[in-house]
Amino acid sequence: MTTERAIGRLAALIRVPTVSRADASETDWSAFARFREVLAEQFPIVHASLDRELVAEHTLLYRWRGRDASLPPLILMAHQDVVDPGDVASWEHDPFGAEITGDWSAGLATAVLHGRGTIDDKGSLAAILEATETLLVARHQPARDVWLVFGHDEETHGTGARAAAALLASRGVAPLLVLDEGGAIVEDALPGAQGQLGVIGITEKGVGNVRLRVAEQGGHSSTPPAMSAIGRLARAIARIDAKPFPARLTAAARRMFAAAGRRTPGLRGFLYRNVAWTAPLLRAALVRGGAETAAMVRTTRVATTINGGHAQNAIPERAEATVNVRILPGESLESVRARLVSVVDDPLVTVELDGWEPAPISPTDGPGWELLVSTLRDVRPDVLPVPYGQTGATDSRSFTGLTSAVYRFAPFHLTIAERAALHAIGEQIRLKSWLEGVEFYAELLRRA
Ligand SMILES: [Zn+2]
Repeated sequence: MTTERAIGRLAALIRVPTVSRADASETDWSAFARFREVLAEQFPIVHASLDRELVAEHTLLYRWRGRDASLPPLILMAHQDVVDPGDVASWEHDPFGAEITGDWSAGLATAVLHGRGTIDDKGSLAAILEATETLLVARHQPARDVWLVFGHDEETHGTGARAAAALLASRGVAPLLVLDEGGAIVEDALPGAQGQLGVIGITEKGVGNVRLRVAEQGGHSSTPPAMSAIGRLARAIARIDAKPFPARLTAAARRMFAAAGRRTPGLRGFLYRNVAWTAPLLRAALVRGGAETAAMVRTTRVATTINGGHAQNAIPERAEATVNVRILPGESLESVRARLVSVVDDPLVTVELDGWEPAPISPTDGPGWELLVSTLRDVRPDVLPVPYGQTGATDSRSFTGLTSAVYRFAPFHLTIAERAALHAIGEQIRLKSWLEGVEFYAELLRRA
């Protein structure tokens, strides 16, 4: 791999605005067709050597055949789509311009590539393909099959990854390891933990939308009933807001503390390492630590849309709201729905919930986990692997039926500011960090 060419390929992918929209009919699918052309141009040897198929019209599935078909395969995932950049005028650099700033000549240490998707998730997609292309040039062939799965609607509905998982399941593919985006190499992830941690998602929360509905007989607003549909709906939302879900330290959070405790000095480290009996203290600290840490220990809920009424002087015939829920592992869509019915405590409010169940917790031992963490340790000996339960959703949730070894980790060092720019204005990646990620994927593929 020549560094400059590799960076040029990543930049070419950033320049294609593969924005996915919640209403799929509003997505510009021609951008995805162009993205496939750019991939074929930029990674010619991958496209000449791997089998490629399209699933659900736009999701890309590549198969790199290994030497031994009897070995369980490796699945590497990333997604092609990106979040709408929003108000382009507030970006300092064009979100689809792939501009590079910083001192290129100073060994890349300060060079930064700007644009939507530089981290989420074309950074991973390009790094996986770069590593594959490089190994193909070196005439490497993996022992096991390697599948690359690049979804097209991760940011909206995840239908592409779900179709790819169903197709692979129908072919009897039972992978050793599934690796998707999620965690990263970070500092300051946990108070007191020293140095860089490689945080690896071993589960993720479920996602659901609760629909609250109230219907009533309409009429003139001069003769109203005791409580209107809008009033009843507002009371239901107020009751949901007043009763947060109980806080609980999941098995994933316990494993995170136990692992990070090995790098945490003093009293904090003692508390982390003895999580079996300090769990109540740690749980309380996370609840107090702000919205981000509180979300790690409880199912969250927030009303996101509300509609009702049809005229200023008519009794509303219907009122409805959406409450978005993020479900902690150990709970389920049904247990959350049942709890909300009891919290709302009003038979005239209909409560319906659909969405994705929380992912099962993946093991922190076994061959899939060992392949992942031994690769990380050898490429980045200073980075401590730390399992955790992530609050955001990924396409990998569709693959938990194929293996228990599903992990969420992109091998890039990201600062707090870089993580904050995901899905926001000013997304960017340091080129040094990206190139280290390419090295990680290359080593993982060498061991596959
Ligand atoms: Zn993503």
